[in-house]
Amino acid sequence: MGKTYKIAVVKGDGIGSEIVPAGVSVLEAVAAKHNFSLDTTDFSWGAGHYLKHGEFMPSDGIEQLKAFDAIYFGAVGLPAVDDTLPARDYTFKVRTQLEQYVNYRPVKLFSGVKSPLRDKTEKDIDFVILRENNEGEFVQNGKILYPDTPNGVAVDTSMVTRLGVERIAHYAFKLARKRRKHVTNVTKSNTLIYTLGFWDKVIAEVAEQYPDVTYTKMYIDNASASFVLKPEVFDVIVTTNMMGDILSDLGGAIMGSLGLGGSGNINPENNFPSMFEPIHGSAPDIAGQNIANPIGQIWSAAIMLEHLGESEAAQDILAGIEHTTAKGNLTKDLKGNATTSEVAESVVAFIKAN
Ligand code: ATP
Ligand code: MG
Repeated sequence: MGKTYKIAVVKGDGIGSEIVPAGVSVLEAVAAKHNFSLDTTDFSWGAGHYLKHGEFMPSDGIEQLKAFDAIYFGAVGLPAVDDTLPARDYTFKVRTQLEQYVNYRPVKLFSGVKSPLRDKTEKDIDFVILRENNEGEFVQNGKILYPDTPNGVAVDTSMVTRLGVERIAHYAFKLARKRRKHVTNVTKSNTLIYTLGFWDKVIAEVAEQYPDVTYTKMYIDNASASFVLKPEVFDVIVTTNMMGDILSDLGGAIMGSLGLGGSGNINPENNFPSMFEPIHGSAPDIAGQNIANPIGQIWSAAIMLEHLGESEAAQDILAGIEHTTAKGNLTKDLKGNATTSEVAESVVAFIKAN
């Protein structure tokens, strides 16, 4: 038997308890075939945990996670739990404290899935969004000033550091070298002149160290329109925390459904475990019905295996997904009538048979 990977499994809330087990079944199938094993430990953290215990995860939760090779995560959040609670930030805490500074979010069109962009085919939609994951607009440094006055005033301060920009930029250019050698910096430095002006300056400096990679700067407004009109211009996108968050839902939409997007919160140096999760949330509106699309969660398993160095197993999962969608085995969000479990079983069957 080959290696054993210790995986923390956090199903979270809503559809997490349906799609995470679907993903784990795929992981087990591919591990058996590729001669490695998974030692999984379940953690029942999230908004459900908060309702019972007053916290999303125990205070030593981050320390517990450090003992693992990777974290396989569903989503957290329930309508009954206020989104603005500081405790809501299970994901923010894990991403920052485990220095998962790259949020890797691929966008591609699977065969058999129709993009809402009617003229676009699989060759037009195939790029990666790299979202800076530790700083920017989401550092939660702000304040409500004078709340008792008739005209309240509130401020949020965005934060960009040289270290933070350099490291995501290097990741982007290195990734582009393995792809079509084109990095697009999506920014809004024409109006956020301080933080994003600095962001652009540092990215341009890093770009000079990769003369073999084409470097383009594009404003977020133009980039949003280009996602819809000409997604083929993108290869690797590097962008800030909030802009990446918004653009990846748009990326999910042009793939055909938010339920398709997988992602990795990556610590490239491997000094802490990385975390793999779908780009969507816990979708409480469709939970408990076995109709959620598990592909984003399954794709996240492939991204996790790629990160752990099990490339062939990762490719096998992607081939299983392609085979499943090509056959028209689609969930309701893609106008099909397959269940969550049927889609997962189809991916597992393909892996076992090939
Ligand atoms: P978060 O704040 O955690 O990102 P959200 O408010 O953006 O959550 P989601 O949970 O992502 O919301 O859901 C947005 C919409 O997409 C919902 O209508 C939901 O049902 C749908 N959706 C999300 N994930 C899936 C999925 N895997 N399969 C089918 N539909 C999904
Ligand atoms: Mg969302």
